[in-house]
This record gives sequence, C-alpha cells and structure tokens, in this order.
Amino acid sequence: MELKDKVIVVTGGGRGLGRAMALELASQGAKLALIDLSQEDLDTTVGLCMEEGVEARAYICNVAKEDEVEKTFAQVVADFGSLNGLVNNAGITRDGLFLKVDRETGKVAKKMSMDQWNLVIDVNLTGTFLCAREAAAQMIDLGVEGCIINISSISRSGNMGQTNYTATKAGAQAMAVTWAKELARYNIRAASIAPGYIGTEMVMSMKPEALDKIAAGIPAKRLGKPEEIAKTVTFIFENDYVSGRCFEVDGGLRI
Ligand code: NAD
Repeated sequence: MELKDKVIVVTGGGRGLGRAMALELASQGAKLALIDLSQEDLDTTVGLCMEEGVEARAYICNVAKEDEVEKTFAQVVADFGSLNGLVNNAGITRDGLFLKVDRETGKVAKKMSMDQWNLVIDVNLTGTFLCAREAAAQMIDLGVEGCIINISSISRSGNMGQTNYTATKAGAQAMAVTWAKELARYNIRAASIAPGYIGTEMVMSMKPEALDKIAAGIPAKRLGKPEEIAKTVTFIFENDYVSGRCFEVDGGLRI
C-alpha cells in the first residue's frame, strides 16, 4: 500500500507510541484520524502531523464502547471520504499478582480484582475487536484495499503480575491471524507488532532501578525508541505481501 493520501486511524494516537506512529505515517504522506481520550494530547499530535503537511483530525472516543466506536468510524469516513488502515494501539495496564499467600498464616488472598481484569480486557481486547470490526466493515463497503495492525507486546507469552494484560496481548496477536485469514478475500491484510520495552510514559513510570535492570537484560542493552515501532508500522502498511505475522521489535529480548 502506497501511504501517500491513504487514511489511517491510530487509536491511542494522543501520546506515546501512537503519536510516534502518527508522525511517521504523516511523514510518508498519509492522512491521520487519531482516536484518544484526551483532547489536549490529540490536539498536540494533530498539530505535529499537520506540520508534515498532511490532513489530521482528532476524535475523542473510548475504544471499549461499541456505540462510540461505531459513531467515530462513520465520522472518519464522512470527514475523509475513505479509510485504508487501522492501528489498534490504545492500551492500558493494571498490573497485580494473581494470588498472594500470607507467609505466616498461609491464607490465600485474591490479588487481581475483577475491576483490574475487566478494565484491561475492555480496552485492550474488546477495544481492538470493536475498532477492527468497524474499520473492516467500512473498508469492504468502500471497496478499498486495507490493512489492520494490532499492537501486541512481548508480554503476550506471559509475564509476572500481568494476567490481564498478557491475555489481551496474546489475544491481539491471535485476532490479527484470524482477520488475516478471514479478510484476505476482501483485500484486507492484518498483522501484529510485539514491542519489547519502549521508552514511553507507560514504561518510564517504572522505578529507575527496575529500568536499569531491564536494559541490562536486553541484548541491545537499551530500551527501544517509539520511532522504532513506528517504522515497523510503516513497513507493514507498505508491504502488500505481509499478512498474519507478529513482528517482534524488542532489541533481541526474546531470542
Ligand atoms: P501510553 O499510555 O503512553 O499511550 C496509550 C494511549 O492510549 C494513551 O494516549 C491513552 O489515553 C490511550 N487510551 C487508553 N485507553 C483508551 C481508551 N479506552 N480509548 C481510547 N484511547 C485510550 O502507552 P504506550 O507505551 O504508548 O503504549 C501503546 C501501546 O503499545 C499499548 O497497547 C501498549 O500495551 C503497547 N506496548 C507498549 C510497550 C512499551 O514499552 N511502551 C511495550 C509493548 C506494548
């Protein structure tokens, strides 16, 4: 897919990886529809994209809410007249151990609450499902080629304290495979990216000692840069023979 003048939706486009993706796509001439919860963050990203000379618009939308997602994607198509790509990037963490056993009493406590579970499932898994369903329906109606990218994570193969998050990130990867199979007949591709530890707010909010320990364990000996994930997004959009795969961009952490 040639990115120039293509309309791409990036969820969670207000900051972090989403902003870096928007800027990289804008530098390739794509038009950006940016979804997030904060008007201020969205306005900043829209302004930066417009400096690249492309059209960019902000949409306040909670990706976990079906009615908001439906309205937003209809509005994107009304505003831009097309829709060619989606990056399912909006995501949250609510970490906590599954269970904890009191050493003295031996009593077992449930540590991960239903609130923690539901919040992360709603945004990361249901939000990804809803946005992709809406985007694919619009692409088929429009009769255009399309591509959907889910942002998974290195955590998709399991990580301490992240029962909820790991379930959603494994799901994001698996859903991309399913859509690659189901939607190929409509000229729509799907793929996923599993970033390692990237230096965005989500990761930089960890304690410096913890970050140093993480960096030391990565073969590249550093955290990744948001632009390194953004470049992978561009690569997937531009290469029409890529579909279904998960791209691990993690400085070699999983090798
Ligand atoms: P971030 O917290 O900086 O940005 C996430 C964005 O998503 C925010 O702007 C937030 O407002 C938005 N968002 C959250 N809930 C939303 C909702 N319900 N509806 C719409 N927007 C919502 O995080 P980030 O580090 O940029 O991460 C982006 C994605 O990459 C996430 O899916 C995350 O799980 C994934 N990821 C990040 C890393 C990393 O190291 N930063 C590693 C692996 C995967």
